[in-house]
This record gives sequence, C-alpha cells and structure tokens, in this order.
Amino acid sequence: MKRGIVRVITKGSVIENSMLDEARNNYLTAVYLCGEECGMCFVDVSTGVLNLTTLSGKKIEKSIIDELGSYTPSEILLNAEAAARPQLSAFINSRLQASCELLDESEFDYSACLAECVSHFGADKLNELGIYDSRLAVSTVGAALAYLRSLYKTDVINITDINVFAENQFMKLDYSTMRNLEIVETMRSGEKKGSLLWVLDRTRTAMGKRLLRSWLERPLVNLVTISKRQNAVDELFGDNIRLNEIFNALADIYDVERLVTRVVLGTANARDLNALKQTIGRIPAVKELLKDYNSSYLRQLYSQIDNLEDVYSLIDSSISEEPPFTLREGGLIRPGFNAELDELIDIQTNGKQHLSRIEAEEREKTGIPKLRIGFNKVFGYYIEVTNSYKSMVPETYIRKQTLTNAERYITEELKEHENKVLGSRERSVRLEYELFCQVRQKVASQCTRLQLTASSLAAVDVLCSLALVARDNNYCCPVITDKPVIDIKGGRHPVVEKTLSGTLFVPNDTYLDCDDYRTAIITGPNMAGKSTYMRQTALISLMAQIGSFVPADSATLGIVDSIFTRVGASDDLASGQSTFMVEMSEVSNIIKSATKNSLIILDEVGRGTSTFDGMSIARSCLEYITDKRRIGAKTLFSTHYHELTELEGIIDGVKNYNISVKKRGDTIIFLRKIVRGKASGSYGLEVAKLAGLPNPLINRAKAILADLEAGDRRSAFASEQGFEDGGEDNPLTLSLSSTIDDRIIDELKNIDTDTLMPLEALTMLNDFVNKARSNGEF
Ligand code: ADP
Repeated sequence: MKRGIVRVITKGSVIENSMLDEARNNYLTAVYLCGEECGMCFVDVSTGVLNLTTLSGKKIEKSIIDELGSYTPSEILLNAEAAARPQLSAFINSRLQASCELLDESEFDYSACLAECVSHFGADKLNELGIYDSRLAVSTVGAALAYLRSLYKTDVINITDINVFAENQFMKLDYSTMRNLEIVETMRSGEKKGSLLWVLDRTRTAMGKRLLRSWLERPLVNLVTISKRQNAVDELFGDNIRLNEIFNALADIYDVERLVTRVVLGTANARDLNALKQTIGRIPAVKELLKDYNSSYLRQLYSQIDNLEDVYSLIDSSISEEPPFTLREGGLIRPGFNAELDELIDIQTNGKQHLSRIEAEEREKTGIPKLRIGFNKVFGYYIEVTNSYKSMVPETYIRKQTLTNAERYITEELKEHENKVLGSRERSVRLEYELFCQVRQKVASQCTRLQLTASSLAAVDVLCSLALVARDNNYCCPVITDKPVIDIKGGRHPVVEKTLSGTLFVPNDTYLDCDDYRTAIITGPNMAGKSTYMRQTALISLMAQIGSFVPADSATLGIVDSIFTRVGASDDLASGQSTFMVEMSEVSNIIKSATKNSLIILDEVGRGTSTFDGMSIARSCLEYITDKRRIGAKTLFSTHYHELTELEGIIDGVKNYNISVKKRGDTIIFLRKIVRGKASGSYGLEVAKLAGLPNPLINRAKAILADLEAGDRRSAFASEQGFEDGGEDNPLTLSLSSTIDDRIIDELKNIDTDTLMPLEALTMLNDFVNKARSNGEF
C-alpha cells in the first residue's frame, strides 16, 4: 500500500458540501501589505471564484478591515507586515472566526509568484487583466495559488479567472454598518431571519443564495451597472406569469458551481455527476423562458447559458441510473458504454449459463454424453470425463487430475472463462473506476462552460428573486440619478413592515440633498420610530444600489459612495472596549472616511457619557459633518438633546424633523409619522409607563419631575423616598439645568434694556452669574 498525504484540509479550502454552508461563499484570503499598499485576494475554491483588489492610502489598515468585513473569510494568509498591524489583528481576532496563517516573505516573492500565476492562468490572461506587471497583484494571487497547491497537491484548476476589482467599485459598507443595518444577519442573534437578506431572498438555488448575499455585501456605485440590473428586474417584474414559470424552472437546479469544483478537483462521485446531468437537463427550459427578454443583462445571461447537451449525453450514456456513493464497489457505469466492461459484468451475472453453454458445446464436439464441467478450489474449473469415455477425449484437452474412475481436464476456453470469472469482479470494479474517472475528466474539461452557465443561472435566480419580492411586497422601481439627492415618498422599512403583527407600517418621506437639506435632526420620544426611519432610508439606498426595487411609493435616489452608521449602544465586550469608547471610535471612523457623497446615520451620538459632554460632542459632530468644507454628507441625526434643534437656521443645511406622537391623558399614542419641526417633549415617563413600570414608581417620578420643573431641586431630591444630591453625572442634570437656563432666560427676556442703567446692568449680570454658579439656587 502506497502511503502519502494526498490532501490537507483547511477551513478556507474545503469543497465538501458537508463542511460548507450552501448559502454563503467560503473564502480563503491572502493579504499582502507593503507600507501603504496592499494586495488582497479572496478565493472560494468551492466555487472557483477568485476576486482580487489592490488598496492604497494612508487609511490602509482600515481599508483592509473593511474588505475583510465584507467577505468574512474563514482563512487568512498574511505577510509579516500585515500580521504586525495591531488594529488589523484585533479585528481578525474579535470579529472573524477565521484561522490565520503567517506566510514567509519569500512566499510573496514576485518572480516565484509570477511563475505560479503564469503557469496557472497563462501570461496572456495576466496581460489582458493588466496585472502582469503589478507586483502586489501577482504576489498576492501567486501566494494564494501556491498555498492551495500545497494543500491539494495539485493545481486548483477550477479557478479559471480573476475578477479584478477597483477599490472604489463598490459602495463602502464597513463592518459595523453591515451589522447595524442587519443586512445579512441580525445583530443580536446573528440569524438570517430578521435581516434584509431574509426579506429579499426568494432564490431557488444555492448559487443564487450566495450571489444575492454577495450583492448585498457589495452594492454598486456605478449608474450604468446599477441600471443594468434594475432594468432586468423591471422586465421580469413586468411579466408575472413568465416570472413564475422561470421561478418554477429554477427549482431542482443543483449547486452546479460546487459540483463542477468537485468534478474538476476529482472528488465528485457518480451521484454528483448524475446531479449535474439532472440540472443540465433543466437548463434548456430556463433558457427558453428567457428568450424573449430585451434588457441587456437578461440578453447577456441568455447567451451565456449553455444547454451543455454534449455533457448531458456523456453522463447520460456512461453513468448508471442509481450508482452507489462509493467509487470502488462498481455499479457506476451504464451497460452498453464499454464492451469490455459489459462482458465482465456478463460473466459475473451469467457465469453459470456460460458454463452450461461450454459444457453443451463440448459434449457435442466430443460426443461424450457424460462430460461435465465442475469446479474445485485447488484446480479451478475442469471438464470431467469418466474412464469409459477417456478414448474420446480430444488432444486439445489438458489433463489436470486423475481420479479412480475419471479424468479431469482443462481447455483453453475453460481456462479463459476461469480467468474471466475469477478476476472479473475485481477487474470490472477497477475498470468502472477508470471509466468513471475518464468521464469525470471529460466533464472537467468543460469547466469554463459549466462555470459560466452556473454563474448566469445564479444571476437569473437573484434577479427573479428581486422581482418576486418587489411584486409581493409592493415595492417601486427607484429612479437612479447622478444628482446628489435622496427623495423617497412613502418609504417603508423592508424588515419591520414584514414583522409587525396587528398594525400597519406607517410610510414616511425622506428628502436629503447636498444643500439646504443635508442634515435632518430627528427628535421624538423613545419608541417613536426614529431608528426605524433612519435605517429604512439607508436600506432603501442600499437596495437601490444592488439593482433592487425599494419599499416606497416612489423614490429618486442619487448614488451614495458609502453608508455609515452609528446606531444604538452595541456594547463591544468582545473587543474589551466600553460602550462610549466604541461609540466614539465609530464616530471617529465616520468622520475620517465619509465624503460628501456618503449617507450617514447617527443615532443618539453622545448619549454614552455625561449630559454636557454628550451634548457638546453631538453638536460638534453635527457641525463637522454638515460643514461642506469638511464633509457635507447627507446625514440623519436622531437625538434626545432637544437643544440641538436650535441649530436649524444657525447651521446651514440643517433641518428639524420629529416623529409625531399624540398625548392622551397619561399616555401617548405613537403616530409614526415624520413631520417638520422639533418634538414637543420627550415623554419619557409616558414611554416608561407603556413599558410597564409600576404605577407607584411612575407617580413618584412624576412628582420629582414636577419639582424639577418648578426649579425645586431640593424638594425633588431631599424628600423621604427621594435620592441624595445627584452628582454631576446624574441623568437628571439635564432637565435641571435646562430649568435653570429657562428661568435665567425668562428673567433676561423681562429686562427692559432701554431704561437699564450701566451700574444696574452690572449688578444684574453679577446676580445672574451667581445664580448660575449656585446651580439653581433661585
Ligand atoms: P426609536 O428609535 O424612536 O426609539 P424605533 O425606531 O426603535 O424607535 O421603533 C420602535 C418600534 O416602533 C419598532 O420596533 C416598530 O415596531 C415600531 N415602528 C417604528 N416605525 C414604525 C412605522 N413607521 N410604522 C409602524 N411601526 C413602526
């Protein structure tokens, strides 16, 4: 038995279905960082995809993190420089469940890597892609290919192409935005249910599922490519009956991408080939249904889908209908495919008949009526002739054994039969395996055609899914424009509207541009719907940029280059940072990365620290982001600091909105409608009551609030059930201070400056200063 390692299995290179999630790609990533430049390639061996991108710039570490966040690879190869970056390592350790491998610098050696790439793809392809002379690109791809070869002990020839992506080819969605917007999974449980993907995914094939996910992870920023997808969705949307027909035709299409990989890498069994055949058998129906569409993308997909009749008939003629799982037990090859095999099988099944035929023939030839064929373990098959007929035995008979009353012989034919029968099982099993491998190899030689057909079917599946979702959820086709505007009429949150039970989702408009309506400050009590509103705007933009319809009555959407979110208090225990620290580092990241074409969602920035600190930070962030000379991005900014609403009219481009509520007695009704202007109050106690806090507690809070509002801080805190003097960080400080401010303002309003004498004014001023310093001791 020859022994040796035939393959090394790692997380990022597996191709076995049992170890893979069918609905997502499994990426192995190579990161080659040199100063402010980095090559990154993402290989999914299971589907034969290789994406390459080269990054550069001062924020290189951040760019690498964003790419990793978008692909979430399961294995990462790093050069020493990349591995030494603390932020990058922290991200990989805390956010990705990836195994990491540190590769020696020599593994990225340009000339070795070039040789690797040239032998794999050919020099022409590298030239065609414009990467032949790119040290970064060649080294990154070469290192990944060599690594894979070391695992597979062979070239991974199912990787037939390189998708070269420019750094700014996709919308930038950093890791926290992906999480905050719950694009492919929910923040809390990490499940698909409750995410945008969950709403949009009506795909019928595993390939479609993966593609839809990757579209969501990397939305487009180019008007032409977005329109191309959108037109296709629109055309499918326009013919309901045909859409359903395609949808049905896509059912039972197996995962061709992964099947082909196993075929090419020689791990596919006969059942896999049959699954492939079955799928190929369904392709003509899908293709036929696509025949009459006119949009350029559907026409392109139509022409790329290959009916693969030759591959079908090859498998059909060779592989038996119900082959076993294993390849070493026979039963793989159909009768009629190979004459030698047929004979071997025939011998096994018809061995006895064959013997009786020989026996009859020999009797006839020799005229010995009692001639008989027998078998024993020592001598094998023999012809036995009793002594009385010995003289009639022909010369061609070879004597084997003499018994008392009979002689035993063999003949050439019998010997041949014996050889055939005895070795036939072993030989047929071996031959079947060889024939199977030949067939598999022939199918593998059609890899490129199969892959192109598979990826085209995946795209058809995704486009149909988007059209179906649009139809069933009453979405509209957005107008994509190159103007910097987000104008949504009757927008809805795609996920929340699906999960509401018993109530209807209240649609809302959004208008943002690069001028007077750059920043919307949104106030309103907790639970009013601020986060929902802001997220829905972001999700609608994102959906439009993957080519989807959107949940709105109408929408005109300029392309955004990135979406940034700072939403809620996602305490980041995993990275060992406090809530406030995470909040500030996310804000810092937004400030550093956003451009005027970005969409920024800031949900209650500054609430993680003391009131004045928080309010100051919130305001300065708002000023900074709104400032056209700095960022000037379209921004939705929700806040509890009602003071910030004063900024409308002071800062150019800022507008106030609130989500309206109606107060009825002790309780409030959420109207969910966004309207211009600031909220009339914060309704904290009403919301607390709705949340089920016990009445005595609410009543006590009311009493405290009343005291505070009357400026009687002592009474508020010193009464029996009350609290001790609240310190600086007491959450009530804000209300208290506002009351003091209000009273000072009231007094100021009542001063008649026309009659005020200078000394009097100075005394008053002194008085105010003392009052303010005494912290409200009016
Ligand atoms: P806030 O951010 O103001 O505290 P949320 O956005 O979290 O409020 O909304 C609270 C809940 O209100 C949501 O979970 C959803 O159930 C409901 N909601 C929000 N917006 C709407 C809407 N437009 N129509 C119907 N229900 C809504």
